[in-house]
Amino acid sequence: MSHIQIAVDGPSGAGKSSLSKATAKRLGIVYVDTGALYRTVGFFARSRGISLDDIENVVPLLGECSVEVRYENGVQNVYLNGENLGDRIRENEISMYASAVGKVPAVRAFLLETQKKIARENSVIMDGRDIGTVILPDAPVKIFMTASNEARALRRVKELAEKGMPADYETVLADMIARDAQDREREIAPCVPAADAVVLDNSDLDFGQSVDAIISIVETTLRGKGMTL
Ligand code: C5P
Repeated sequence: MSHIQIAVDGPSGAGKSSLSKATAKRLGIVYVDTGALYRTVGFFARSRGISLDDIENVVPLLGECSVEVRYENGVQNVYLNGENLGDRIRENEISMYASAVGKVPAVRAFLLETQKKIARENSVIMDGRDIGTVILPDAPVKIFMTASNEARALRRVKELAEKGMPADYETVLADMIARDAQDREREIAPCVPAADAVVLDNSDLDFGQSVDAIISIVETTLRGKGMTL
């Protein structure tokens, strides 16, 4: 049986990761969080004392940066040089570092094969910013998930609080808007919907309704293409 790929892109805080995770569970496929890879490279850059303004300086150091994805007990863990960084990559500052390294073509090239390989070997729902446009351009199902700025910032604050990382709403909102603009306007792999993506705005949907909406898009799109999971 060939593998099915579901690409989920969109700005931060649109619920891509929690919704994709829940969808993966319902469909019995693998959830891939590609933001964690950029966060890991961002963490590496910060640990080497590179500033956000000179982020290009990470390129000559990539040879010393091994990023490995492992699925352990059904959970994706990303290892940096053999160490599982866990929630340390979720800090707000690391979000900004992830977005900064994401602008660097050599970093994107560095992470390309890791992402493609997982999708070759498994049926996946993969979330990120350029999955439908660059990483899996032939994915039969592409969803561009979005929500209002306020809804997204509130969710991010709640998510951080649940991880024991309290954050100020105004700071999160401002950083999110800056990061989204940077992700959307960058020259390489900008965060925009693929031409054949279904746009899903979930501002007014609760979690369960959002998962149902995703499953419905997946089923309808696959049926339309004569495919099944
Ligand atoms: O999804 P998450 O918020 O964890 O991603 C962190 C950052 O990593 C994003 O703001 C984006 O700049 C970058 N990223 C990317 N391409 C992806 C996934 C994430 O550029 N496929």
